[in-house]
Amino acid sequence: MLRVGLTGGIGSGKSTVSARLAEHGAVVIDSDLLAREVVAPGTDGLREIVESFGEGVLAPDGSLDRAALAGIVFTDDAARRTLNGIVHPRVAARTGEMMAAAPPESVVVHDVPLLVENGMAPAYHLVLVVDAPVEERVRRLVSARGMPETDARSRIASQASDEQRRATADVWLDNSGPRDAVLSEVDRLWAGRLVPFEKNLREQRVHRVG
Ligand code: ATP
Repeated sequence: MLRVGLTGGIGSGKSTVSARLAEHGAVVIDSDLLAREVVAPGTDGLREIVESFGEGVLAPDGSLDRAALAGIVFTDDAARRTLNGIVHPRVAARTGEMMAAAPPESVVVHDVPLLVENGMAPAYHLVLVVDAPVEERVRRLVSARGMPETDARSRIASQASDEQRRATADVWLDNSGPRDAVLSEVDRLWAGRLVPFEKNLREQRVHRVG
């Protein structure tokens, strides 16, 4: 199994890249999606959140009111730690299950927006960073996703810088141009199975020796 960590700033094109990799046959684990699944209605994750934060974080249909919860944890570090303590272990458990269920020969792509911020690079054979200039990302988030520009800019400011991500990348994907350009680049990388990097060779040697 080749474990690929996929990251990039908000709106850089992670989902665009991971969808293409999935078409090629990669097993994609989307950490944002898992973070929503573990607090979906009926889960014990949601039950614990309500126990900790009260019924006020529930929408009328019984699902989690993310805006209400964000309002609580935004300015309260202890509340944020409590929330993370509920969500993170569940996401980690699901991730472990999905990794374990992937066929031995598969390429597993783990889409983690905060991979660099959380120092997770050593967990992967290959870290793939998708990048696009900040102004282009803001344009895409505002036009394609309807995000208010101030929100887009403050989310970008709260994340690692492009330089920090580039320093962590084994493979760097430029998504500043048209979508087709980055998709062709993904196809090329896949054709070489994302290239046997030094780290992978090192690991193969370790396996052979072991
Ligand atoms: P997030 O961090 O919010 O999960 P992301 O990194 O997964 O975002 P995408 O959702 O793939 O990024 O892309 C952000 C937006 O920009 C989407 O609406 C997507 O369709 C659009 N987009 C991605 N790549 C391009 C491109 N090369 N040209 C134009 N629009 C693009």
